[in-house]
Order: sequence, then structure tokens, then C-alpha cells
Amino acid sequence: MDVKKLIEVALPLEKINAESAREKSIRDGHPSTLHLWWARRPLAAARAVIWASLVDDPSSHPDKFPTGEDQDKERKRLFKILEDLVVWENSNNEKVLNSAKAEIMKSIGKNLPAFLDPFAGGGAIPLEAQRLGLEAHAHDLNPVAVMINKAMIEIPPRFSGMSPVNPDSRKIEGDKWMGAHGLAADVRYYGEWMKKEAFKRIGHLYPKVKLPDTQREDEATVIAWIWARTVKCPNPACGCEMPLASSFVLSKKKGNETWVKPIPENDHIRFEVQKGKCPKEYESFKQGRGAAFKCPFCGEITTDTYIKSKGINNQIGAQLMAVVAEARGGRIYLSPNQEQLLASKANKPDEYPDALLPYDPRNIWCVGYGLETYDKLFTNRQLTALCTFSDLVKEAQKKAEQDAVIAGLKNDSVSLEDGGNGAFAYGQAVGGYLAFVVDKMTDYHSSICSWHSSGEKMRNTFGRQAIPMVWDYAEGNPFSRANA
Ligand SMILES: [Zn+2]
Repeated sequence: MDVKKLIEVALPLEKINAESAREKSIRDGHPSTLHLWWARRPLAAARAVIWASLVDDPSSHPDKFPTGEDQDKERKRLFKILEDLVVWENSNNEKVLNSAKAEIMKSIGKNLPAFLDPFAGGGAIPLEAQRLGLEAHAHDLNPVAVMINKAMIEIPPRFSGMSPVNPDSRKIEGDKWMGAHGLAADVRYYGEWMKKEAFKRIGHLYPKVKLPDTQREDEATVIAWIWARTVKCPNPACGCEMPLASSFVLSKKKGNETWVKPIPENDHIRFEVQKGKCPKEYESFKQGRGAAFKCPFCGEITTDTYIKSKGINNQIGAQLMAVVAEARGGRIYLSPNQEQLLASKANKPDEYPDALLPYDPRNIWCVGYGLETYDKLFTNRQLTALCTFSDLVKEAQKKAEQDAVIAGLKNDSVSLEDGGNGAFAYGQAVGGYLAFVVDKMTDYHSSICSWHSSGEKMRNTFGRQAIPMVWDYAEGNPFSRANA
């Protein structure tokens, strides 16, 4: 007779659904935080599907379970194992995993089949196959997906059980390092090294801000600088550099309501931070859809076509509206000062990515406003920071490799790709994870990031699968804890 697998007959769907939904709010240690991937599958669902595809349904064994009643009873027992298995907190619980694996072996025997996911994407399915003891293989056409899968499935087992190689950890003797914990300790160590080293090189671009007398401290670390893009007012009689801010609200948080007032002065606008709720007339100078904004000087309204033509001719500027700092007791908003303005005026680095963005007006509509190359998505200071961190990945990789030689790893030059597990490959592994950190930073350090006035925090670039145009953007400080 045909052998039916559990998945073909019944599954405890309610529990699997609940665990899959709960996973979305789990951040700490979850693979989803490793790298952005759009169509990520919940681990609970992947784990359940693979397990239930391997384990036989009791009806396939009438010799052991002759009656419907016997089969129901056995199915309930299997459901209990599956319900424990899908809980996130049990992901590394040996007891739970062993009892799940024992059921797989009862159905299949000791020779488990190899597992292949030809379109692995975020890697949830091959990761779970590996967890259940299968030899997992993953393919994808997208190089980002390939990197994510290597980082999750290929690299950790290769260095499993190894002690970290960094000099601090080497001093501690007798520690037992389970699984990839040694590798993780090294990623943290060289990541910290990168941060310190970056601060030496570019820390001067991020000065602390002086606080007003009313505060208990003298100065505070800046979390973000809030900018408005600007354009020359189309009214020839006015001609001021007008701010294109979607909103002048800085904080909607109860008790900390703050806004910024555009004050016409000579031929320019001065910004002054105001405490309290933003008056209705200042909530927005944006007029409906597209880039139509009202000039705070003369009341003229721009057209989208006008702003687009200015953008394509490189005539869109930016003006600092406010500085957000991390003071005792919460966020504090300050009017721009000379020192903060000066620090923001960094030069572009010597080399930076300046390729054209893809032509996709439906999803990448910043291109229509002149942001047509990658570098234009960033302020000069952001480009400098990202290029510095990117260079440091290479340096950290080399450092890890040298330390690995000292720690006694094979001093060869066989790469990860060629199956290496010596010092060179180890350096590459550490470098790979650190490159992911720079990717994540890039998501939070572009001029497409806006300020979340209710949550008082940065929004990332890829809030959706698009690169829109953001008129008032927030430039985060990579050295503040809030953006760490
Ligand atoms: Zn005007």
C-alpha cells in the first residue's frame, strides 16, 4: 500500500500558525535580523512542513495501528512532538530536536535523504532541514540570497565547536565553545574593533551638541540631523531657497511634542525649534500629491514638473532644520548651530559607487527628481562613513586571518568557496558577517530615511520594496547608541 506522510493527512495548524505569527516580533538572535530579505518564510512553518513530510502518518502502518482509534491516538502523540518542535525557544533544545529526529528515523531509517531548495531566498527552509539532521543544499540566482544562505547554513557548521581566535578570548582558557559560538564571539570582537577604528578616522564628523542651560548635562550625543531638501522659489519676485519639507513636526510623543518653525529672514529661511504641539498651519507645506510645496516666504506653490526639472539639473539643495540628541530623560530637539552645520559639510570620499540606479519609475521614483546614481542617495558624510566601514571590513578580515594563524589554524590560502577551513577561510567568514553589518548600516544611513515623529526614531530606507523620494530626511549618527 501507499505510504502516506503526516502532512498528507493532518497537521496541528493552529499551533503552527500561532508560532509563525509570533516569530515576526522576535528580533534577538533571529536569522531575519541577519540581512533584509523580502519574502522571508517563518521558521516554524518551514520546520513543521519538512518534519511532517518525512514522518509517516499512522494510517500507513495498519500492522501497528489497526483501528481508526489507534491511529488517532498515535497522530495526537505526533502532534504533541510537532507542537513542541515549532516553538522558537526550542530551536536549539536538544531534547526536543532529538525526539523529533527519532520520529523521522522511525519512518525513514538512518539514511536520511539529502535536501535541496532550488529557490532558497531567505534560507528558512534549508536551515530547518539542516536543523532536523538532513544534509541541506540551497540554490538561488540572487547573490544576496546566496550570501544569506552561506552565512546561515554553510559557514557555521564549517567552524563548529571552535574557540574564537581574537586575542581577548584566547586569554580565557578552558572555555567550551558550542556550535558557532566561537565564530560569533569573533564577529563581535572584530565588529567592535571596526567601530573604534572608524571613530578614530571619522569621529570628528559627529560632534556632540551643546545643551541649553536648562538641561542637567552640558552636551549630548547627536542621534540624527533632520534636513529639508530645498529649491529656489519659482516666484521671481521671491526667489528664496524654499524648504521642501513634508512636515515640520519633530515629535508627536506625549509630553515631548516639538516642531520646527521656518522663519523668513533676509533672503533665506531660518529654522527654530519650538516646544509644544505643532500649529495646524505648520503641520505641512506639502500640497497634495507629487512634489507640490508652498513657499513659507511668499505663499507660491511649486509644481511637480518644476521640482523635477530642478532635480535633473542638480539644483535641489538641503538645509539643516533640527538636531536630535540623546539627553538624560529622552530625546531633545535643538535648532541648528554653526558647529553642527560645519561638521555636516564633509567632502565626498575619493572613491564611491556612482553607477546608475535601475530604471524603474514605479518603484524607484527618486530617479525622476535627479537622484539617478547610487551616491546621490547619500549625503557626503554618509558616503564617507559607509566607505570607511566598508574599507574596515577588509582590514578586519585580514586581522582575523592573522589572529587565526596565531591561534593555530591551518596557514593556507584555501578560500571558503574551495572548501577551506584554515586561517584564510576563517578570515573570509568573519568578513562576510561584518559585510552584512555594513549592508544594514546602508539601510539606515541614506537620505531616503525619514524621522518617525511618533516613535522618535529613524525609519530605514527599505520600509517598503521601493526607493521613494523623501523630502525631509534624517541623517543618523552611526556612533550613537540609538543607531547602533
Ligand atoms: Zn517664495
